[in-house]
Amino acid sequence: MAQNDDLKALIRTIPDFPKPGIQFRDITTLLLDADGFATAIARMAAAVPGPIDLVAGIEARGFLFAAALAAPLRAGVLLIRKDGKLPGATIAEDYALEYGQDRIAIHADACAPGARVLLVDDLIATGGTARAAVRLLAKAGAELVQAQFLVDLPDLGGADALRADGVAVASLIA
Ligand code: IMP
Repeated sequence: MAQNDDLKALIRTIPDFPKPGIQFRDITTLLLDADGFATAIARMAAAVPGPIDLVAGIEARGFLFAAALAAPLRAGVLLIRKDGKLPGATIAEDYALEYGQDRIAIHADACAPGARVLLVDDLIATGGTARAAVRLLAKAGAELVQAQFLVDLPDLGGADALRADGVAVASLIA
């Protein structure tokens, strides 16, 4: 069995979601599997190259992985939210969607300059979301140690684009 094929088997593909022609990779089935989720978190934690101060998770599924990783890494959890959800003063970053644009934000005081940050999301596709998160963390003065994803869809080029931006990228499943 290839590396992480055990975890890949816990992810299902839902055709035509959220619109016709999209093959949606549904990780809720992996989350439901006690051994699968624990194994995924252990392998992601093992791939982190050095000490981390904060694990930054992208709303919403990224929060699950960020929180689970933060405990064994003895790091705090930094929430990267859709704009308008955080109560305090924020800094934000816009990014392009297929149609239109979106905006993510963090609390302006959430990340001390020089903090060692691990960026986490469940999945990287085109990389638009993760690249906006990287720009946002750079604005905050973070030292981005690595960006990690449970799933990479390599045909969509997001991980390569992040690497071209100079980010260390890791994922368990392609
Ligand atoms: P990107 O910005 O195109 O890289 O899309 C990544 C973001 O969209 C992540 O926050 C993912 O949670 C979500 N996403 C895109 N495609 C999928 C999918 O097939 N399954 C689960 N999440 C997805």
